[in-house]
Amino acid sequence: MNFCSQCGEKVRFAVPEGDDRPRYLCDGCGTIHYQNPRIVAGTLPVSGSKVLLCKRAISPRKGYWTLPAGYMENAETTQQAATRETWEEAVAEVTLGGLYTLIDLPHINQVYMIFLPT
Ligand SMILES: [Zn+2]
Repeated sequence: MNFCSQCGEKVRFAVPEGDDRPRYLCDGCGTIHYQNPRIVAGTLPVSGSKVLLCKRAISPRKGYWTLPAGYMENAETTQQAATRETWEEAVAEVTLGGLYTLIDLPHINQVYMIFLPT
């Protein structure tokens, strides 16, 4: 982040007073731009002894096989996101069971939530 999304001023990366980690700070309007991990929701579609995988069509990791998953949108639940992404990525309609696994990826600021369809 280089500029403030509130006022357009250049931001700096520093620890705000009373905080314990650096944030993007705007000296123009005083906004502290908090950034939090992104949630990636998806499914592990299993049918008998087979697992439905998707071949990535875009970077990163173009050509690699992956589970149908993607970024959660605002105003949807994690289960809605997993169902939507499974449809968008694999054109598969699924009814979700429970959460299969949760994977923390702090080095890229992501949390994966993978559900198991029924
Ligand atoms: Zn600002």
